[in-house]
Amino acid sequence: MEGAELELERRSKFLSSLIQKKKSVEQQDHHDLLNVRVRASDMPTPLQNRAFRSARDHLDSMPGKLDSKRLALALKKEFDSSCGPAWHCIVGTSFGSYVTHSTGGFLYFSIDKPSTNCEISFRFISRRKKKKLLRQLKPETMEISQFMGQQEHEAIENSQDKKAGPPHMALSLISAYLPLFELLAMSGVCTSLRDAVNKDVLSWLDIVVKSPLNLRLSDGILMKITSKANGRLTTLALMDCAKITDDGLQRVVERNPLINKLYLPGCTGLTPEGVIGAVKTLSEHHHGLKSLMINGIYNINKEHLETLRPYLEKNLSQQEQSGSWPLLFHEHRDVPTFRHDKGYATIDVEVCPKCDEVRMVFDCPRRTCKRKIGRSMSDCRGCNFCIPRCQECGGCVDDSEEVEEAVCADILCSDCWLQLPKCDFCNKPYCKQHAHNGSCPPGSTGFVCDVCWANFNI
Ligand SMILES: [Zn+2]
Ligand SMILES: [Zn+2]
Ligand SMILES: [Zn+2]
Ligand SMILES: [Zn+2]
Ligand SMILES: [Zn+2]
Repeated sequence: MEGAELELERRSKFLSSLIQKKKSVEQQDHHDLLNVRVRASDMPTPLQNRAFRSARDHLDSMPGKLDSKRLALALKKEFDSSCGPAWHCIVGTSFGSYVTHSTGGFLYFSIDKPSTNCEISFRFISRRKKKKLLRQLKPETMEISQFMGQQEHEAIENSQDKKAGPPHMALSLISAYLPLFELLAMSGVCTSLRDAVNKDVLSWLDIVVKSPLNLRLSDGILMKITSKANGRLTTLALMDCAKITDDGLQRVVERNPLINKLYLPGCTGLTPEGVIGAVKTLSEHHHGLKSLMINGIYNINKEHLETLRPYLEKNLSQQEQSGSWPLLFHEHRDVPTFRHDKGYATIDVEVCPKCDEVRMVFDCPRRTCKRKIGRSMSDCRGCNFCIPRCQECGGCVDDSEEVEEAVCADILCSDCWLQLPKCDFCNKPYCKQHAHNGSCPPGSTGFVCDVCWANFNI
């Protein structure tokens, strides 16, 4: 037993030394390629590579006599904008320096410039915290509480600026069309903007909370945001806001009786009873509810659905009741706020004709369906559990030979798989929705998926 453990440890040590070796060889190749010599470094490798690449590019774009001041300025500016302020950059052929830097924020290297036959030294120095440096490389999800805190902080800082006049008229025209994230960001810019945005009721009539703000949206914050509409809120869309509870929803609904579109997909903190309570409250009002999304809330059964339906149907015109737009799998995430206007069904879930459960039931686009031969249109209708569908085209793919998997674990049909760009290492594509998770290493024209990136960089 002990022998086996020792052997296992020996092998894992060997493997990690192999990976380490491969990484350093790759890095050396990269240095040779750009003709770079590293003198001293305390900087994450991806950031180093960015520095080498931009130094090389700027140097190549400045032929003739070396203008070290201009070069340093260009590099400083580039690093400030891509990695956050504030960087110091020193460029020259001969200089001494003595600097203090933060952990992870120092790089000293040199590059040959053949035309002038001399070696140019570069020093990048930052006093930013290492965590912040790395954050710039891989965007992290912004949490709403941090965001609101920051907004308050900045507003206080700016409040000394008393001379600022009111914002331009045009702002009030565009603010009604801004998503919540931009609206919050705008109100954090300065006090006069904040006041303008906060007072402009029109901007707050449709509230859509989605990633990344959804993660920390609590009942309290929701109350604060919705209160800006002065009770005139018409659309409340909370996408995957798991922290919202029945009580929180009920309070908002009671203060905003004009809500006619209520979207709560993935709000797992809610119960079917809580949703029914909110819908009941809204339907008691003259205007009434016209569109409801509840997929992803646990334990919704047929009885709940039967209770909900009459509340919504009495608010619909004859035309609205007759037939609805087909719901295609690959489109359903894109346009939730236009759901009602586009003529989709009033409630997003229904009883699946195949498994009899209350779920989202999708129609098949047929054109790209892999199973349409020998199968009728209604056979192609079903929930995502009964009929797996391609993330890109929405076609049925329940034949195991035709199914391909994306890096993000979404399913693709073979046609869509062929067309999408693939990871340099594992040759798997992302679906378009998750394509932003890939990283572009310097010197590569393609991308590396987050799985491979994590394997090679940690
Ligand atoms: Zn089903
Ligand atoms: Zn089909
Ligand atoms: Zn497809
Ligand atoms: Zn990969
Ligand atoms: Zn995906």
